[in-house]
Amino acid sequence: MNIPINQPTLPDLKDYIPHLKRIFKSRQITNNRYVSRFEEAIKKQLRVKNVVAVANATSGLILTLKVLGVRGHVLVPGFTFCASAHAIAWNGLTPVFVECDPRTFNVDFDDLERKITPQVCAIVAVHVFGNPIDMPRLERLARKHRLKLVIDAAHALGSQINGKSVASSSGVTVFSLAPTKLTTSAEGGVIVTDDPGFAKTLRLARNYGNPPDYNCQFIGLNARMSEIHAALGLESFKLLPGQIAKRNKLAALYKRQLCGLPGIRFQEIAKNNLSTYNYFAIVIEKRKAKVDAATLKHKLSTYGIQTKRYFYPPVHKQIAYRRYIRHVSLKVTEELSNTTLCLPLYSHMDEATVRFVCDKVKKTIA
Ligand SMILES: *Cc1c(COP(=O)(O)O)cnc(C)c1O
Repeated sequence: MNIPINQPTLPDLKDYIPHLKRIFKSRQITNNRYVSRFEEAIKKQLRVKNVVAVANATSGLILTLKVLGVRGHVLVPGFTFCASAHAIAWNGLTPVFVECDPRTFNVDFDDLERKITPQVCAIVAVHVFGNPIDMPRLERLARKHRLKLVIDAAHALGSQINGKSVASSSGVTVFSLAPTKLTTSAEGGVIVTDDPGFAKTLRLARNYGNPPDYNCQFIGLNARMSEIHAALGLESFKLLPGQIAKRNKLAALYKRQLCGLPGIRFQEIAKNNLSTYNYFAIVIEKRKAKVDAATLKHKLSTYGIQTKRYFYPPVHKQIAYRRYIRHVSLKVTEELSNTTLCLPLYSHMDEATVRFVCDKVKKTIA
């Protein structure tokens, strides 16, 4: 038995080949029709105003902070993937790490507000594992303190709040299309913004800042998405609604099977919200459970079940950031990071596999 933590659900190769044939025939392998077709498809399905495709979400976040002209300090949760903070550091800005809410795993609003100082210019917030942040509250807070708002929505393409995409209307939202996410273009990202002027500048920014008369207007990056990637993304994106439905069903099965085990709890998703369940996490509270997250991970691996301690260590504890900023301590984040374990979940997984994993978890814990 070998059960991966995660696996991309790919479109049928026969649906992808005709696109490749067309791309080869045109000899336009980057910067052409498929990129704009893919952007249009996302725009239409999410019902958003402007979509800019990029090479990956990390470069999308870097360019977003650059084009927004952010200066000084940027608030970012410690409980996230390194790229949320890397994008801040790559712009020469200082990340100020913020606590998370132990129930939703998303940024803690009280700590966020407490850490606002005159140097703070922006917030980078994350829909952790696809669980929507309370966006109206976050947007109000950003507006009140005149902070730029960037959302690392790497896990959240397809996540919804009251039936609408999580894409922010006042901030900039960056989705990832890496192979560990639901929709994938192998590598890729998309940026969503309500502001057409900002989108226009982003299109320049992903192309070196070249207008394209070779007289660069500012220092951009090469962060273009290729046609080959865009065509894969276009086909993969068609599978998204089915993937989300399936993952929610499997997550519900996991919860039914595991609820009531001593010391086990789950990430809380608000009633009117839809999560992509990019990851399915359990929290193992040390005092009540027989084993801790590290031991459970090891035990499950002996049954061929791959799990992931995610996000562990939290970003502010990683070597790169211990060198970059003054030491910070985030108690809730560190506790969550120590006690969280992500179990296998992918969109083509079957119920029997979920039951098998649950049996082994129960055996180890109870
Ligand atoms: C995957 C991920 C990223 C980076 O996305 P890439 O497209 O691989 O650059 C950023 N933030 C979070 C939370 C992620 O999970």
